[in-house]
Formats: sequence, C-alpha cells, structure tokens
Amino acid sequence: MTLPFLPFALPDIGEEEIAEVVDTLRSGWVTTGPKAKRFEQDFVAFLGDPTLEAIAVNSATAGLHLALEALGIGPGDEVITTTHTFTATAEVVRYLGADVMLVDIDPATLNIAPWAVEAAITPRTKAIVPVHYAGLAADMPAILDIAHRHGLKVVEDAAHALPTTCGGALVGTLASSATVFSFYANKTITTGEGGMLVTRDAALAKRAKVMRLHGMSRDAFDRFTATVPSWAYEIVAPGYKYNLTDIAAALGLQQLKRLPAFQRRREQIAAVYNAAFADLPLITPPLPAPGDQHSWHLYVVRLADAAPLARDRFIEAMFAAGIGCSVHYIPLHLHPYWRDRYGLTPAQFPHSQHAYERMLTLPLYTRMSDGDVERVCTTVRALLRSG
Ligand SMILES: *Cc1c(COP(=O)(O)O)cnc(C)c1O
Repeated sequence: MTLPFLPFALPDIGEEEIAEVVDTLRSGWVTTGPKAKRFEQDFVAFLGDPTLEAIAVNSATAGLHLALEALGIGPGDEVITTTHTFTATAEVVRYLGADVMLVDIDPATLNIAPWAVEAAITPRTKAIVPVHYAGLAADMPAILDIAHRHGLKVVEDAAHALPTTCGGALVGTLASSATVFSFYANKTITTGEGGMLVTRDAALAKRAKVMRLHGMSRDAFDRFTATVPSWAYEIVAPGYKYNLTDIAAALGLQQLKRLPAFQRRREQIAAVYNAAFADLPLITPPLPAPGDQHSWHLYVVRLADAAPLARDRFIEAMFAAGIGCSVHYIPLHLHPYWRDRYGLTPAQFPHSQHAYERMLTLPLYTRMSDGDVERVCTTVRALLRSG
C-alpha cells in the first residue's frame, strides 16, 4: 500500500470560514466593507492593545510597501534587512527607489544579526526591517536599541510571526514604527491572499490608509466644508490598489478565531519533532527564550556535517517516500537580481550561506494527523540513521 502524498503545507479551512464567505457573497457587498473593518478590529483585540491601529491590505508585500512609503523612504535612502528571507521583504524598498543593504544572520537563531545591522549603518540609512524568521522573534531589544541610537525607523516583517512573542509581548505590540503580517495561503492563518499593517503611529496609519486606495481622501475636504456629500473625495497622491476584499476578510475573521487552537496544534507537532530528532545528525530549530512563544510557521532543520546524505539528496529521498519538503529560502544574495544589483558574494554572508546549504523545511500544519507526524518522524529517522 502506498500512502498518499503529504505536502509540506496545507491551509486549514473549516465550515465556519465557508459559511462566513457564503454570507459575504449573499450580502451584496464583496469588496472592502464591513467585514474588512471587523477583521481590523478583531485583529487589534487579538493583539490586546487598543492603542494600535490595524490596516487590512491584500498582501504583506503591500503592507510593507505602505509602511515604508508612509515613513518617507525614497531615493538616496538605505534600508537594512536580512539576506535570509523571501524577496518580498526587500523588493518593496526598491519600489520606493531606495537601496537595500542585506546583512547576515545570527547562526544560533537564523534571525538578522544585530552586530551585522550595526556594521551596515551609513549616513544614508533610514530604516531596519527585521524578519521573525520561521516564527522565532528576532532580537528586537537589540534592534530597537540600535535604531534608537542611530535615529532609524523599524518596520517588522512579521509574515511568519502570528502569534509570536518577544519578551512576553506579542509581535505587533513592540516599539517599532509598524509591523506587517501575512495571510498568504501557507501562513499561520490565511485569507487566500492578504495582510495586516499594525501601527501606533497615527500619521503613518493615516498615510497608509490613503495610499491603500488610490491616494483617495475624504479628510481633505474638512478644510473647506462642514458637510461632505457621500460621493465626494479628493485624490491627494498617486496611490495604490492594496485594499483587502470582504470575501478575503470573511476568511480572516474565522481563521483568527481559530488561531489559539491552531497554535496549540503547531506547538504539539513541533514538540513531537524536537523529541524524535534529538539524537540524529540534525540541528533542530532554535527555541524561543524561556516564557516566549514561537509561532512554528516553519519547521526548519539543518543537516549536520555528520549526516549521511546532503540536503538535496535528503529532500529527494523524502519526496520518494511521499513527503513534501521545501527550502525557506534561497537567500537573497544568491538571486541574480540582488546579487548583480549590489555585487554580492556568498562570502559576505557566511552564516546564511552555511545554513542555506544544509537547511530544509519539514511539513508542519494543523491538518496533519498524528499518523502524518509519525510518518515524517519515521522517515527522517530511517534516512539519517541508515544513510
Ligand atoms: C510570505 C512572506 C512575505 C509576503 O507575504 P505576502 O502576503 O505573500 O505578500 C513577506 N515576507 C516573508 C518573510 C514572507 O514569508
């Protein structure tokens, strides 16, 4: 008997989500409206800090772009981020005509290395974009301290970090200028495509909301007239089309309710893996500080030098056994665009390069059965003990 193929990720869409989407479809209001508004309110309630404002967008990429735009990043500026991420983190800086300074990771955490950030600062540096890689919080106290000392802004790429904590506080509530979450299909909650920009900065929020929808403002009228007709607006900038539809927000409303249960399941699976792999030539994922929470968006392992087979062969063998694995990510310094634009070489990023050559992502998602989890454990153990 051959077992069905086990993918490395799958969304967990239940009857509640389906009913909420159907309700939206029947309501007559399918684009941005009451459900997007409620999703924003529920998101702030989840983060538990009413001083925050949440702005729903159609991707995290859009949210990162809006946050950096609202902070005034533009030509001549530099933004520091990690090479060990998805290209979306960095591409938004180029949308604005600013330059990306990629830096290496801390090999112990795979997160952006504070010492590398400090070394990359120049008079042109305006912002730092840390990524909470795989769902483990970056060293935010160190990054916020560097930013404070050098007068830089911090925008967190929290695409992996719902719900991650740092020093006991949820990512999204820390002292950065803005935090951006992703609801892409394989993230910890999904709206198909979607994202949320979270901020305490009222001016940033105001600008992001205007730029989210064509640069359209009704506030602009307040200067001229007391009563603004319902059809009236002014275009105050060449904005974007980044709004989240109510169809997508309907999914988000129900996914957010299930997030605590999703989190418990992810933690369970990670604990089973950690125990099953402890004696193998495999480096299991770095753990959060005591008392802190890892979102376990990705379960990234690194093959030790003593492993009987190399990373690519290992992934092939897993596929042959019917188990999907992936690599998150090919570091940015290896991609032609980033490499050639900035003349990058692997030697500039020894820790990211070393991790990349040995790392892979094992399946971890809420719809995995205990049997699926056991099957991954058994297969990994068989491959790494026999070679
Ligand atoms: C998924 C992801 C993004 C982009 O999210 P979208 O919602 O697909 O735009 C950005 N950064 C990281 C690290 C991601 O994993």
